Amino acid sequence: MTDLDALQAVLGPGARPVRHALTGETGIGLPPFTDHHVHLHLIDAAALTAGGIAGVVDLGGDPDALAGRAAGTPRTAYAGAFLTAPGGYPSGRGWAPDAVVCAVTSASASPGVAGGARTAVDEMADAGASVIKVVLHSGGPALADDVLAAILDAARLRRLPVIAHAEGAGMAQRAVRAGVDVLAHVPFSEHLHGETIAAAVADGMAWISTLAIHAGSPDAAVARTNLERFAAAGGRVLYGTDLGNTQAGPQPMGVSAAELSALQDAGIRGPELVRTLTDGWPGLSVAGLATFVPGTLPDDELALPGLLAASRVVPAEELLDIAR
Ligand SMILES: [Zn+2]
Repeated sequence: MTDLDALQAVLGPGARPVRHALTGETGIGLPPFTDHHVHLHLIDAAALTAGGIAGVVDLGGDPDALAGRAAGTPRTAYAGAFLTAPGGYPSGRGWAPDAVVCAVTSASASPGVAGGARTAVDEMADAGASVIKVVLHSGGPALADDVLAAILDAARLRRLPVIAHAEGAGMAQRAVRAGVDVLAHVPFSEHLHGETIAAAVADGMAWISTLAIHAGSPDAAVARTNLERFAAAGGRVLYGTDLGNTQAGPQPMGVSAAELSALQDAGIRGPELVRTLTDGWPGLSVAGLATFVPGTLPDDELALPGLLAASRVVPAEELLDIAR
């Protein structure tokens, strides 16, 4: 086995030994990383590229503010506001100003109807959203089934996927049944039935990890078990931290070793672990960027999260292949 084979066995086919053209450092080159769940209005986004994150998906923010920054770094895709029931989550939360919440009051499929499902989707799509975010939260006012179905129909018309914040008993199951494309968090409120997990995998649903926000809570073990079963059945898992959420304490501005360790605990290892970071997102271009990881492959797989957390984003042309 050559060094390259050994590297790719652990980090996947995109890994290669490199030298940084400007600094002369040697290390590992990887495709650019994406954090698939952040809230930019709550963090200092400029720090993320130094921490190894080339692209982000903002899953709840002011669509007009986000429209202005798509070309900056990190590269940004976004959902815009949370589509929720009047007074429903996250209305009134300190971290969710009015512009971040869009109340949907009817299942109207006609454009231009105030409070209608179609109008809400059009508003986000017209503001440049590449995904529509809906709230399925069992505490407080919730979207009715016909309103949820109308949001999904309207999103299909705009060719946008739908992502759900599912929290509380039955909510993840409801998202799977309705045909939602992505869950913003690995389900953490209850252990899912095997049929629900099998249906999610069969439908090609993706789950965003956000495991580290549950540290110190009983939700952590529930999320780990659900993810273990989903991933073992072939489900698509995306790295995401919910950056801006500080319920488990401050998070690092960049690749999170805690998030990667929690993914490893759920059985997502080696190339599968790296793939959660390098998987793409509709409307998000990280072309021309690359990940530079200083140093060499650790002998202990459990040291991998720490190594990857030392990554930084570089222009792809600054990484030179080291001849073997
Ligand atoms: Zn979030």
